[in-house]
Amino acid sequence: MPNSSSEPAHGDRLAAATAPLLAAASATAPLACAHLHFRHRLAVAAAHGQAVADAALDEAERRIAGLLRPGDHLLRSAQGDFFLLLPRLLGLGHAELAVQRIVREFDAPLDIEGRLLFLGPTLGLALATDPAEAPEALQRRASSAVLEALRAGLPHALAQDLAHAAIAAELREALARNALELVYQPIVTLPERQVVGYEALARWRRPEGGSVAPSVFIPMAEDAGLAAELTRWTLQVALREFAPLHARQPDSYCAVNLSARAFEDPALCEQVLSALAIWGLPPEALMVEVTETAVLHDVGRNAGALARLAAAGVRLAIDDFGQGYSSLGYLRHLPAAVLKIDQGFVADAATPRTRALLEAITRMAHRLGMRAVAEGVEDEARLGAVLEAGCDFAQGFLFARPAPLGYWLETPPQA
Ligand code: C2E
Ligand code: CA
Ligand code: CA
Repeated sequence: MPNSSSEPAHGDRLAAATAPLLAAASATAPLACAHLHFRHRLAVAAAHGQAVADAALDEAERRIAGLLRPGDHLLRSAQGDFFLLLPRLLGLGHAELAVQRIVREFDAPLDIEGRLLFLGPTLGLALATDPAEAPEALQRRASSAVLEALRAGLPHALAQDLAHAAIAAELREALARNALELVYQPIVTLPERQVVGYEALARWRRPEGGSVAPSVFIPMAEDAGLAAELTRWTLQVALREFAPLHARQPDSYCAVNLSARAFEDPALCEQVLSALAIWGLPPEALMVEVTETAVLHDVGRNAGALARLAAAGVRLAIDDFGQGYSSLGYLRHLPAAVLKIDQGFVADAATPRTRALLEAITRMAHRLGMRAVAEGVEDEARLGAVLEAGCDFAQGFLFARPAPLGYWLETPPQA
C-alpha cells in the first residue's frame, strides 16, 4: 500500500517543494499534486531480488522525468512511491491529460537486464486552487485518491472534493465571463405539431474538457453558492434572447427551469417580473417550470411564491411529473396551468401498464384544469402512445432538438 507518512524526511522535502508552488496556485492556474504508486513493486522484488526492483524504479523515474515540463517536480519516497507537482496548469482537463500520459507510459514493460517487467502504476490526483491550503493537506488528498483508485480498480483517480472545488471555481468564472449558454427546444401542439413554446436549457461548454450536462453542473453550482446568480443569469438571458422571437410569434412563450434553490430568494417574484419588464415581455410570455420535488421541498413558501407569479399572469408548469415521490396533495393548491409528464412514462409507453398511467395522468391533469405535455417523444411509436393518451402538447427529438435561439429565428420549426 502507498505509504509515505512513515518517512519524515521525504514528507519534509515534499512539503518544502510544494509550499512555493501552492502560494502561486489559483483557479486559473491550479497546481496538481499526483501520488504515483506501483502495485507490483513488492512482487518484482520478491521474484527478481531487490536490486532488480530498484533498477526498475530508477528506470521508471527516468521515464516520468522525460514527460515533465520545466518547473515540474518529481520526488521519490524510500518505499518507491513517487510524488509529482505540476504547477501552472490550464485547468482540470490539462491535469488529467498529464496524468494519463504518465500512466500510459507504463503500458510498455520496463526492460531490466533482459527481464520485461510491469510495475502496475496507480495514480491519485489532487488539484489545488487555494494558496492558503496546507501542503500536507494537498498531499493527503492525492494519497487518498490513490487508495480510491486501488479500491475501484482504476489506473488513476481524482481526489473528489478537489475536483469538485476546481470545477466550481471554473463555473463561477464561466458565469462571470458569460461563458454559459442557453439552447431552446420547441414544445408543439398535438396533433398539429404547431410550435407554441420554447424551453430554455442551460449548457456549459468548458474550454477544455468538453460540455458538462446541466444535470451535473447545476447542482454543483448550487453547492458552490451560485444558485441565485444562476437564476438571475438564466432569466435575463432567456428573456433577452427570446424577446425578438416573441415579437414575431406573439402567442408563444419561453419556458425557464427554476430549481428548488431559486425559491430561497424572497425576491424571486420581483426578479421575474422585473426581468419581463426589462425585455418588454408580457407575463404570459414566460412559463416557469418547477419539479414537484422543488415544490414539495418547502410547500408553504414555494407554493406561495408560485401563486404570486401565477396571479401576475406567468404560466406555471410542473416538470418531470411522476418521476419523484408524487404526493398529489400539493396539486390542490398549486395554480399550475401545465403538467409535464416525465420522459420515463413516454419512453416506456410500449408497456400496457405505463400506457394506462400515461392516460390516467393526462386525464387527471385535464380534470384539474391543466394541460398535459409529454416529454421525450423520440419517435413515431412514442408519439402514437402520447396521442392515444390524449396529451395536449409534446416535446422531444422527434420534433426538434434543443438549439441556440438564433437557429429558431432563422428556421421556424416545420409542423
Ligand atoms: P428537463 O427540464 O426535463 O429538460 C428536458 C431534458 O430532456 C433536456 O435535457 C432535453 O435536452 C432532454 N430531451 C428533450 N427531448 C428529448 C428526447 O426526445 N429524448 C431524450 N432522451 N431527451 C430529451 P438537458 O438539456 O440535459 O437538461 C437536463 C435537466 O437539467 C433539465 O431537465 C432540467 O431539469 C435541468 N436544467 C436544464 N437547464 C436548466 C436551467 O437553466 N436551470 C435549471 N434550474 N435547471 C436546468
Ligand atoms: Ca424542464
Ligand atoms: Ca422534464
